[in-house]
Amino acid sequence: MQEFLEAIKNNASGAELANMPLPKNYRAAFVRRDDMRMFDDVASDDKDPRLAIHVDEVPVPELAPDEAYVAVMASSINFNTVWSSIFEPLPTFGFLERLGRESIWGQRHNLPYHVLGSDGAGVVIRTGSAVRNWKPGDRVVIQCNYVDDQDPSSHNDSMKAANQRIWGFETNFGGLADLTVVKANQLMPKPSHLTWEESSVNALCASTSYRMLVSNNAASMKQGDTVLIWGATGGLGGYATQLVLNGGGIPVGVVSSADKIELLHEMGCEAVIDRKAENFRFWRNEHEQDESEWRRFGARIRDLVGEDPDIVFEHPGRQTMGASVFAAKRGGVIVTCAATSGYMIEYDNRHLWMKLKQIVSSHFANYGEAYAMNRLIDRGAINPILSAVYSLDQVGEAAYQVHHNLHEGKLGVLCLADSEGEGISDPEKRERIGEEKITMFRRHADSLVH
Ligand code: NAP
Repeated sequence: MQEFLEAIKNNASGAELANMPLPKNYRAAFVRRDDMRMFDDVASDDKDPRLAIHVDEVPVPELAPDEAYVAVMASSINFNTVWSSIFEPLPTFGFLERLGRESIWGQRHNLPYHVLGSDGAGVVIRTGSAVRNWKPGDRVVIQCNYVDDQDPSSHNDSMKAANQRIWGFETNFGGLADLTVVKANQLMPKPSHLTWEESSVNALCASTSYRMLVSNNAASMKQGDTVLIWGATGGLGGYATQLVLNGGGIPVGVVSSADKIELLHEMGCEAVIDRKAENFRFWRNEHEQDESEWRRFGARIRDLVGEDPDIVFEHPGRQTMGASVFAAKRGGVIVTCAATSGYMIEYDNRHLWMKLKQIVSSHFANYGEAYAMNRLIDRGAINPILSAVYSLDQVGEAAYQVHHNLHEGKLGVLCLADSEGEGISDPEKRERIGEEKITMFRRHADSLVH
């Protein structure tokens, strides 16, 4: 793949890239089927991604007619990289087996190793015979919704397709590698003002937040809506906060440190809660919640913005769901896409039905939603939340940081790109949008280190 890197750096044409021979192997970050029981007797917090993630050469898979090979310049760590590497809640090899039973092309995925990664930015180097809209040389970002467009249930809203999958989590050949295989309908144009690493961190988390908040498939946020955002500087929350501000809403950001409060203020989020400093403890013990803490939390939000939230942006799950259902406005929406702290959820149903609230589920985004989100990033209305950059060899360490909530925003990973700062093709646009906005999370993280 080094020859592809040189060619891309030298602005080789699409025809030149298409004529270069493909390697037999490529470098990738993966987990092994043989390791999937390695943490069986270990507590969740002690399961260490650094022990399970390997970086080595793997064979280049064959290309299906509706697919493209992308030379991956950069990728990012998502929480699903953590889940895969600690084999929770299930080892991902079961997903690959199921995909393997579906079709001949699906069989390629069922291997003794699983190449991880559900984000990527890079250059198309080959397309299958059925690909119409993309060609070698195109600079792209990859969205992770993997659907079969010949399945009628994938139309209307592809997230509701019977066999919808997340690329690099429920499929093999993910983005944490020098090369990836994707369906053509995962490709989107790379924002021209961003570096490879800035482009690579957005698609999964930003599109998820877009569907949760903006899309009519979930909370349909309106101008003036008050939105409570858990983890407001995290992977999802960092985009949610920007989307609320960009859409004329009023964000109430919950975070867990003074540094993150400072970052929220810099983003323009005035109403903030430090859940640690204010010592919110919604659970008295493992079995029993403390309603007086829900009330203290609700009162705190009213103090800050004078009303209850129209929308609660939920993903921590078990630890916060009781408080989220309580705090939402009468008639409000709790939109949930995850359960980091536990998926067996408990809340007081009286607060839900008597006050006509709704719990709405959401999961990643369909192609249209991901494209709409990518357009906002391309226009500079929403900015990347890249806070640190790792090399491919350091994927285990980067996943460890996310597992232990030691990061802000998103962690980028350089794959084929050998240095940071490459890939900007429209420097004037970058200047117009503003370096300080584009690099806000990075500068903030760097200032904490120095
Ligand atoms: P992240 O970067 O780790 O951010 C999550 C933030 O949530 C943390 O920074 C933390 O912020 C807050 N948090 C964590 N545990 C909490 C708790 N017990 N109580 C309150 N706040 C807590 O992760 P992410 O990328 O945003 O992903 C979050 C979850 O969503 C993960 O479980 C992930 O798998 C899931 N997810 C689902 C989808 C989907 O399509 N369904 C897409 C993306 C992510 P503070 O410490 O500052 O409060």
